[in-house]
Amino acid sequence: MAVLPIVRMGNPVLRTPAVPVPPEALAEPATQQWIDDLIETMHDADGVGLAAPQVGVAWQLFVYEAEADDEDADGGIPLAVLVNPALEPVAGEPLFDWEGCLSIPDLRGLVPRHPAVRLRGLDRHGQPVDRVVEGFEARIVQHEFDHLNGVLFLDRMRDLASLSFLDEWQEFLHDPATADRPSAAAKAE
Ligand SMILES: [Zn+2]
Repeated sequence: MAVLPIVRMGNPVLRTPAVPVPPEALAEPATQQWIDDLIETMHDADGVGLAAPQVGVAWQLFVYEAEADDEDADGGIPLAVLVNPALEPVAGEPLFDWEGCLSIPDLRGLVPRHPAVRLRGLDRHGQPVDRVVEGFEARIVQHEFDHLNGVLFLDRMRDLASLSFLDEWQEFLHDPATADRPSAAAKAE
């Protein structure tokens, strides 16, 4: 496996709508190897999600996973690979929480997201996925799905007043009651 270079804001691929993955491509060993590389890259960056455009590939594919000790992860979110996904909000008012992005290093901001979404698509083997995800998983999925449409979390912020560098966020904004635990919000995606 290999760690892939993560592209940063300013690279046009992050503003380019991704194209569907040809289903036959999933049968190719090179594609499966590359998906493993994407997962390893997410782990290496200590992120909770990573979309193909973030490694310069304009494919509709993302991966995500959260450790059980991430404070918002509700006991952990298993590794998932989503191919050619579609999202549909489930009823509920948008909730604000902190997000960061591996392609926008060291910034955090408050972003409204749907509390639950219906997620449909394929897994890495081409098998159908259709499930409702909630909470932190719903937030990750919406962040990654945006990457497939050239949208960054900054675009989703209602205003920029909460936009902070990570060090200042930890000093001034992060809840001190939970500061001794790894923060999901300190992780980027
Ligand atoms: Zn991101």
